[in-house]
Amino acid sequence: MPLGFPINHWAEVVDHVSRALPCEACGFLSGRNGLIAGVHPVENALHSPTAYRMEPANQVRTMTAIERQGREIVAIFHSHPDGPTHPSPTDLAQATYPDVLYVICSPAGPDRAWSARAFWLRDGQALEEPIDWLTAEAAIAVRILTDLSDHPAALTDHNQA
Ligand SMILES: [Zn+2]
Repeated sequence: MPLGFPINHWAEVVDHVSRALPCEACGFLSGRNGLIAGVHPVENALHSPTAYRMEPANQVRTMTAIERQGREIVAIFHSHPDGPTHPSPTDLAQATYPDVLYVICSPAGPDRAWSARAFWLRDGQALEEPIDWLTAEAAIAVRILTDLSDHPAALTDHNQA
């Protein structure tokens, strides 16, 4: 199933990864059923242009906040300031979440425009998942269809029904 990526959330990611230049930046994309509904930057503890590691305390706080919102981690994003938008050997070796997509962003397009690709990283292999770019309006319609509410209480009631 393609990753549903609302362009307003992509703009948030671009804002974060471009501010971090020349270093790599990273974070979580939360949502449900392959649809992104939130962007959660996490500090890159390495502050390096060629590597990232989520700052552990910041990572745990962010994961807890996503859970409290009744959402799942749909993807982990990070940037490659000098490209490519493909996982590096290190990304493959260090991938620890087989059920989460890895979104790699790079300003390697024409005019240094940012682009992104999504991959499953499993058993040392990268399998690309297409990205379905959605307008904010389309994303709201999909959220209603997938029952991705902003109200955790409503989700809990639904799950118990
Ligand atoms: Zn990487």
